[in-house]
Amino acid sequence: MMDENVKKFLKSISYTATIAAEEAKAAVQSAGKAINQKTELAKMNVELLGLQADMEEIFCELGRTLFLMNTGSYNSVLHGEADTEEPARHRINTLLVQAGEKQQEIDFLNAKVKTTKGINICPVCERACEDEDVFCPACGAKLEVPVEKNDEKPEV
Ligand SMILES: [Zn+2]
Repeated sequence: MMDENVKKFLKSISYTATIAAEEAKAAVQSAGKAINQKTELAKMNVELLGLQADMEEIFCELGRTLFLMNTGSYNSVLHGEADTEEPARHRINTLLVQAGEKQQEIDFLNAKVKTTKGINICPVCERACEDEDVFCPACGAKLEVPVEKNDEKPEV
């Protein structure tokens, strides 16, 4: 028969161990979240660079098409056909539509980067808090400083 105090002692140890395990689990989870956020941002930045390169190509071709159209040699230089303005105009319209679509993708991604940077998620209850919150308004946990929110918002 175990002594009552020993029982209590063992119970308190197992209780402390459970809390420690929970805390360790929460710490690992919140570290994982920060890493995910950084990975997401890195991915978005790579995607943005690709979109901007596409945009440069479109601008480049627009300029060349416009130049060749202006010199009246769009068809003869590129297609070896007689020159009319129609194919060049058609190409320019297509390129303008493509540039517009690319710009939309870039704007969308930039907005996404902004939200991801500014997001301030409670490590305990996962509530999305305001940037300026130091403690979670829902559960009172101390919030981490969001990743890379130093650019923009100049101090006034
Ligand atoms: Zn919370």
